Amino acid sequence: MQCAPHVTLNGSAPLRRPVGHSNQNMDVIVIGGGIAGVATAYQLRAAGHRVCVVERHATVAQGATYGHGGTVLPTPLDVWFGPTFMASRQNARNGVISKTGFTGPARQFVKQLATLQDPEAFSRQYGRLRPLIELSRETMADVEARFGLEFEQTSGLLYLVRSTQEWEQTQPALELLRQNEVPHHVLTPAECSAFEHSVRAEPEFAGGVLFDQERTANSPLFAKLLKQTLDTQGGVQFMLGCEVSAIRLEGQRASVELAPRPGASSRSREVDVIHADAVVVAAGHGSLALLDPLGLRLPLHPLRLHTLVAPIAHEECAPHLAIVDAVKRIAISRMNHRLRIAGGAVLQSAAQIDKPLGEALTKEALALLGQATHDWIPGAARISAALPWEGVKLLSPDGLPVIGNALHPRLFVNLGHGPAGWGLACGAGKLIADLMSAQTPDMPADTLAALRADRF
Ligand SMILES: Cc1cc2nc3c(=O)[nH]c(=O)nc-3n(C[C@H](O)[C@H](O)[C@H](O)COP(=O)(O)OP(=O)(O)OC[C@H]3O[C@@H](n4cnc5c(N)ncnc54)[C@H](O)[C@@H]3O)c2cc1C
Repeated sequence: MQCAPHVTLNGSAPLRRPVGHSNQNMDVIVIGGGIAGVATAYQLRAAGHRVCVVERHATVAQGATYGHGGTVLPTPLDVWFGPTFMASRQNARNGVISKTGFTGPARQFVKQLATLQDPEAFSRQYGRLRPLIELSRETMADVEARFGLEFEQTSGLLYLVRSTQEWEQTQPALELLRQNEVPHHVLTPAECSAFEHSVRAEPEFAGGVLFDQERTANSPLFAKLLKQTLDTQGGVQFMLGCEVSAIRLEGQRASVELAPRPGASSRSREVDVIHADAVVVAAGHGSLALLDPLGLRLPLHPLRLHTLVAPIAHEECAPHLAIVDAVKRIAISRMNHRLRIAGGAVLQSAAQIDKPLGEALTKEALALLGQATHDWIPGAARISAALPWEGVKLLSPDGLPVIGNALHPRLFVNLGHGPAGWGLACGAGKLIADLMSAQTPDMPADTLAALRADRF
């Protein structure tokens, strides 16, 4: 097995520090090479720790991170809770195809999320998330300035709302924008069309919200560039093509077991173990299978999301801003001569998530993406020639990610970012690094408590 000098397998030369060490310069294993894992590795390294990222794919950013819709940081209109989220029972209206049945955990999960449709509950919960959004904005700006990274950053998002009733439901989000002084402009349909020529004012719609300072950017590209930077700087080792099969927590030790590689001979099939001072689980949807056996049962739910990457059909109809269907949460962003259309969520029982979705449901989900594109920017995309993709992300029943220490002093988690893991990964990584380095995070206590794994 390929590995850098400071990691030795089968336990012969542990990566850990002596018992009783200070929290400085620890050896840390990060499980998962998505945006959360890579951003965490960067922040841990910046805090002086040595890091080993274990990723089962041959390269980073192959999970949910690959299929991102582009939106970097969430506004109150993006979060997957609140008055507009699944407010209608009709799939075609709310943008989420719900196949939860009438009983069982998935149904329960939806009910819990629905409690946040109440405007006050929504406002309270967004208030807890906001410090993480701002920390993420700062940490990402710092990385960009330090390394001059170019990852297809584009400013400007236009959120569009169809009906008067949906516009009413959007008002608590607009109130939060005002309260938090988030720069935005509320536009009439005619103003939307005047600003973004590809949006037609007919047929009638309720209005739009323009964020000229918020951005879209390429999440997998950022993850790859950050990895390259870490490769050059040293101090972070990437073990690619390695799957963690189990985590061991023993007193002052934290270790991970690696699954035998497919095709390994029976002699070499003995379990490889890496020891460290601490482990961070940032394995996206794969996290639950690693945490369950330790007794950490998080009530997160996997959600399948789709993307279509379509060639531009008529340049004069193509948008120059990213367009978001605010209620269906479908984002359409431009990448050179293509449009990336992301959304089409399918909510089903967790037991179904590793099975293929089936042709009919896939068609239904992709049809939502095609229809939204046609409705808002007719003639812009050649949907018939679009390439589909699907990925799974974890959503929590209270809409917030799970970040921090959990269950054992040597175990940390960074997961469940739901639809907003792209930009939040930078702040979440900083938070993990601060907590692990015994630094007081620059974040209110109620946000820290709202992100902890033991809140459920
Ligand atoms: C279609 C789609 C559109 C989206 N649009 C946006 C958007 O516009 N804006 C936004 O902010 N967010 C968006 N998201 C959400 C965002 O992509 C995710 O929140 C984010 O990528 C999660 O990153 P992650 O690193 O936690 O997970 P992942 O990217 O899934 O990474 C987890 C990694 O862990 C690895 N892994 C899992 N188990 C193991 C194991 N046992 N051993 C070793 N490795 C393991 C996996 O291979 C994977 O590479 C979107 C998601 C999807 C699917």
